[in-house]
Amino acid sequence: MIYCCQTKCCHFVFAGGTHQSAYPDCGKKRIRPATREECAAYFRQRTEALPPARRSG
Ligand SMILES: [Zn+2]
Repeated sequence: MIYCCQTKCCHFVFAGGTHQSAYPDCGKKRIRPATREECAAYFRQRTEALPPARRSG
């Protein structure tokens, strides 16, 4: 499940467990489930961070 930290100046989108209640990095408990757009941005960022897939064969 993807969450968004609502703490001022944080707004970090992160993947957490189903019963996640706090953002472990900043320790704040003001998190909410990320919107569909935030999820998309999250996965896009992660995909871009990866090196380009190599063709096998
Ligand atoms: Zn935070």
